[in-house]
Amino acid sequence: MKCFYDDRDAVGVCKYCGRGVCHESAVTVAQGLACKARCEREVETLMGVIGKSRTAYQRTAAIYGRSGLTTALFGLLFLGFGIVEQQYLDRMAVFFDAAGLIILLSAGFAYYNRRKINKA
Ligand SMILES: [Zn+2]
Ligand SMILES: [Zn+2]
Repeated sequence: MKCFYDDRDAVGVCKYCGRGVCHESAVTVAQGLACKARCEREVETLMGVIGKSRTAYQRTAAIYGRSGLTTALFGLLFLGFGIVEQQYLDRMAVFFDAAGLIILLSAGFAYYNRRKINKA
């Protein structure tokens, strides 16, 4: 493979445009090659965006996990209240039981989402 810009042998492929570049025409950026002065800036920006979105993913996963646990406790509280205070609540207990179950379900869903995000 020849360099896109001159007749020298290419040492690699630009991470941004995919053209072959020789040692003279290339510059190393973020564990890859880029056309010197042409794609240098673009690759750096691209890598910055990827790095940022990766951090955002981890942050989202952490929030999901935390809210999932809080939601689960909230659901148990509702469910527990509905069961313990059944005599006093009478028909209202059904509402508390149902609400508790729905909250627990959503907590489980949040936990499932977090596992999916961690895998990605
Ligand atoms: Zn390039
Ligand atoms: Zn070159």
